[in-house]
Amino acid sequence: MAIRVAFLGLGVMGYPMAGHLLSAGYEVTVYNRTTAKAQAWVEQYGGTYRETPAEAAKGADFVMSCVGNDDDLHQVCLGDNGAFSGMAEGAVFVDHTTVSAEVTRELHAVAAEKGIGFLDAPVSGGQAGAENGVLTVMVGGDQPAYDRAEPVMNVYARQIKLLGGSGSGQLTKMVNQICIAGLVQGLSEGIHFAKHAGLNVEDVIGVISKGAAQSWQMENRYKTMVAGEYDHGFAVDWMRKDLGICLDEARKNGASLPVTAAVDQFYGEVQKAGGRRWDTSSLLARLELSEKD
Ligand code: NAP
Repeated sequence: MAIRVAFLGLGVMGYPMAGHLLSAGYEVTVYNRTTAKAQAWVEQYGGTYRETPAEAAKGADFVMSCVGNDDDLHQVCLGDNGAFSGMAEGAVFVDHTTVSAEVTRELHAVAAEKGIGFLDAPVSGGQAGAENGVLTVMVGGDQPAYDRAEPVMNVYARQIKLLGGSGSGQLTKMVNQICIAGLVQGLSEGIHFAKHAGLNVEDVIGVISKGAAQSWQMENRYKTMVAGEYDHGFAVDWMRKDLGICLDEARKNGASLPVTAAVDQFYGEVQKAGGRRWDTSSLLARLELSEKD
């Protein structure tokens, strides 16, 4: 009998991830809060959709989710008609949303009481990574649940690793976002400076991207940044959510994150300038806008 997988949340990330599962031969049932998107998904890929998380999760061996924030995940798991009420003992819930370690540990504990496995499994790689099935998945939870779920996640991942107990996946994602925040600000300042210095930015990046300043952001974003195009991926609103999670966690564990805190404020200014849905490389726009004031 085919392995049954439910997927909750067909957004930018979830829609193609669920598609990969169906293409790989799993029996897939989807749920999306806005039903029209679930209907569109079924028309495109096949499979079935249900009107509530509980109905979608009923009889599933694995339930995957990719929704918005802590409250959204809580609602999808434990709210009215939440997935946990539909899941059978022995099933595994895999959450791909970026949320706090706190809500993850709470849901892991509730799931354990019901005999359900719960893995926090946030992803990195963006929309392109989801569409091409090459995401990086950072997992926290129990080894037996991980061993069962790993082949399922593998359908849309290039790299998967269990990093420790419940919450470890989310903590690793926080490290990822902390590393990106300062790096994007540095790249923005470099491009901004190069323009002021009267240099040819194309030539400058061509040279320095072969040296120690090289980064994924530099290789993949500098052209669109110079062109003032900020619609190439992860939105500023989502980044602020993520940096807020990092800063909250740092207050608890005592880590010092001065650059992350400053960049969080900078993104706040981008939001105020109308850039809530711009991508995260729009820190350059903030520097340029401040010159016009
Ligand atoms: P998105 O396009 O905005 O999609 C969010 C999905 O969650 C939608 O299907 C939405 O349903 C659903 N949802 C939100 N709140 C809900 C609720 N209370 N109950 C039920 N469903 C709810 O977001 P995304 O870009 O796919 O991102 C999803 C998660 O992945 C976020 O945590 C984000 O930080 C993380 N992430 C995103 C990227 C990226 O590049 N986009 C990369 C890595 C990680 P509706 O259709 O009804 O609105």
